[in-house]
Amino acid sequence: MNSVVDLQRSAPSAKPNDSTNPFPVSGRFQVFTERQWEKIPQLKKLPQELQWNMRAVANVLPFRVNQYVLDHLIQWENVPEDPMFQLTFPQPGMLEPGSVKELKQLLMNNADRDNIKGLVAEIRNQLNPHPAGQKTLNVPQLDGEPLSGMQHKYRETVLFFPSQGQTCHSYCSFCFRWAQFIGNKELRFAASEANSLHRYLNAHKEVSDLLITGGDPMVMKTRHLREYLLPLVTAELEHVQSVRIGTKALTFWPQRFVTDPDADELLWLLEHLVSQGKHVALMAHYNHWRELETPIAHQAIRRIQNTGAVIRSQGPLLAQINDSADVWAKLWKKQVAKGIVPYYMFVERDTGANRYFEVPLANAWHIYRKALQKVSGLSRTARGPSMSAGPGKVEIQGVTEIAGEKVFVLRFIQGRNADWVQKPFFAKYDENATWLDHLEPALGQDEFFYESEYESLMS
Ligand code: SF4
Repeated sequence: MNSVVDLQRSAPSAKPNDSTNPFPVSGRFQVFTERQWEKIPQLKKLPQELQWNMRAVANVLPFRVNQYVLDHLIQWENVPEDPMFQLTFPQPGMLEPGSVKELKQLLMNNADRDNIKGLVAEIRNQLNPHPAGQKTLNVPQLDGEPLSGMQHKYRETVLFFPSQGQTCHSYCSFCFRWAQFIGNKELRFAASEANSLHRYLNAHKEVSDLLITGGDPMVMKTRHLREYLLPLVTAELEHVQSVRIGTKALTFWPQRFVTDPDADELLWLLEHLVSQGKHVALMAHYNHWRELETPIAHQAIRRIQNTGAVIRSQGPLLAQINDSADVWAKLWKKQVAKGIVPYYMFVERDTGANRYFEVPLANAWHIYRKALQKVSGLSRTARGPSMSAGPGKVEIQGVTEIAGEKVFVLRFIQGRNADWVQKPFFAKYDENATWLDHLEPALGQDEFFYESEYESLMS
């Protein structure tokens, strides 16, 4: 093992603007937020009423979209139903109608900024900014001090939130991390120090997996990413076998891997980690097969795969965007055709605009099952539907009848206590339930098997 870096090495494949490249694309990154609303030409065709409603929501929830999404992903002739439009633009149904109306009126009347801010803060507080207590419950300690920007919830996996990666190339309208993006420092969750990450990992030999997440770590310059990742190849951190990078850049800005000035260095970094024996996985966030349609996205996928890194896909099931077995089956098929491994179908978390996107657990399981029936074995690697809840990752395995009672069959994919993993348990069937804490134990049980232990772990 060594950590010698030769950044002069060439990256795995040609850039798209080379004369040999069949898919030339613009590499200029231009971003729009609520403040640049008027500058998005495509919005001019939408009714004024809809635009004001959307702007009201954009004052509460984060909104950021880039030129590539506007020009290549959204099909404007299908707006507002277009899934890529729903995925990136704020929609009136995301908030209570009364809140949208009140805020819209303040905005239209050019009301005092403090009045607007006050109402916005009130509405945000109603949206459960920290689901599953993640801000306080999973923060690890080093030398008796809490390490902000890190989470260690499951024994073998550490999550790291580098400070330079706490934004995204665009924002998803349903993002469960929305609270990080609204400019409130209280709600930010980021680490600025590579050193504390490496010291923590060194002190925890049980950790085999590091997940770098955000925001989107792929907004970071390669030189920052290198500071975090290169020391992983040293002998002291040999136990960290897998490096996962959570990203939606393959959708929102595939240029990151192809035409960005440091794209080649990034690919070299991935290749170097692989060559030093690490398993490198890009945990690509996908919600719809349309995200996989552009030539530059194909080229980005190929370039990453040429480094020896694998791409696994994950994403939530969302009303308005992908609540159909056909959409998931097509997504998984297209991914497998491109060598991407389907990994997770998540249940939308209980935060932010989930009133607009949530799908009852019973429907989620139905969609998952139907989608799986339409694909070959290679696509059946996707687990789900899975809830990332306080006690762990809980998968809905099915709906069945036991001793005359209709029940959900559940299991932990991950648990705060590793001993909970894979133990089946049962909840009363409830066709409206959308999250774990809506469920009640079935078969005459007073509580789920893990509940007392979970409570004592949390106290
Ligand atoms: S890419 Fe991920 S972190 Fe960024 S807005 Fe979308 S869901 Fe949130």
